[in-house]
Amino acid sequence: MVAELIDGKAMAARLRADLRGQLEGWQRAQRPGLAVVLVGTDPASAVYVRNKIAACEEVGLYSRRELLPADATQERVMAVIDQLNADATIHGILVQLPLPPGLDANRVLARIDPAKDVDGFGGENQGALVAGLPGLRPCTPMGVMAMLQLANVSLRGAHAAVAGRSNIVGKPLALLLLQANATVTVCHSLTRDLASVTRSCDVLVAAVGRPRMITADMVKPGATVIDVGINRGEDGKLCGDVDFHSVCQVAAKLSPVPGGVGPMTIAMLLQNTLLAFKQQEEVAPL
Ligand code: NAD
Repeated sequence: MVAELIDGKAMAARLRADLRGQLEGWQRAQRPGLAVVLVGTDPASAVYVRNKIAACEEVGLYSRRELLPADATQERVMAVIDQLNADATIHGILVQLPLPPGLDANRVLARIDPAKDVDGFGGENQGALVAGLPGLRPCTPMGVMAMLQLANVSLRGAHAAVAGRSNIVGKPLALLLLQANATVTVCHSLTRDLASVTRSCDVLVAAVGRPRMITADMVKPGATVIDVGINRGEDGKLCGDVDFHSVCQVAAKLSPVPGGVGPMTIAMLLQNTLLAFKQQEEVAPL
C-alpha cells in the first residue's frame, strides 16, 4: 500500500482563498486585526512570525508585529499585552513561544483578554475546551482536526492515539478528538511499549518533537497518520516525527512535513482572528 497524501499545504491554500473571498466582500469600516508579539531574536520564532504576518496580508486581515528585546522585563511584556487588550483595532493577540529565559509565559498568556486569545492558550479558553463550551481553540490541534475532516477520516468510534501531551498540542487535540467521538489514548515519554499502543490505532497523531521516531512497525496497516513534529534530521533537513518513507507503505493516509500541519496551523489562526472579530463585534459567528 502507498498512503494517500493529506496535503495540508493545498488544504490551507483553499482555506486562505475562502477567507480572502470573505474579506474582499467586507462591507464594514473596520477589518479584523491580529497582533503578534515577538520577544527576542530567536531565528525560528522570527520566521514563524513573518509567516503569520504574511498570511494575514495575503487574505486581507490587518496585522501588527510587536517586537520586544530579549531582555524585556515581565512588566514590559505585560504592559504590551494590556495595550493590545485595550486596542480596538486588534481582535486577536498571539504571543510567539517560547519566551526568553526569565519570562513567565503562563503569566503573559493569562493576561490576554480571553476574547482576543486566538491561540486558545489562556485558562478561560482551555476550560471551555475541557467543558465542550464555545471558545477559541488552539490552532495546531484545530488544524489537525480540519485535516482529518477534509481527508474524510471518520472519527466516530475510531481508536485515536496522540503521542505527546503538551498543553499546546497533545492535550487539546485529545479533547477535540474525544469531542468528535473517537476513543482516545494519550501517550507520552513514560508510556510503556508505545508501539503496541500506536499499532492498535485507526488514527495516530505524532506531536513529540523527535525526528522520524514513528516507524512503519508502529503503525496499524490502513491507519491515518498525522505528523505534527517539526525537527531537523541528522541530514540537516526539516522532518517530522514520522518516518515518512517507511510509514507511507503501511498507512492509508499520511500528512507530510513540511507541507502538512504547519500551513494548517496558520490557516486556523486566520480563522480564529475572524471568529474573534465577529464575536467581539457581535456579528454572526462563522
Ligand atoms: P513538547 O516538547 O512540549 O511536548 C512533547 C511531548 O512529547 C511531551 O508531552 C512528552 O511527554 C512527549 N514525548 C517525549 N518523548 C516521547 C516518546 N519517546 N514517546 C512518546 N511521547 C514522548 O512539544 P510540543 O510543543 O507539543 O511540540 C511537539 C512537536 O510538534 C515539536 O516537534 C514541535 O516543533 C511541533 N509543533 C508543530 C506545530 C505546527 O504548527 N506544525 C505547532 C506546535 C508544535
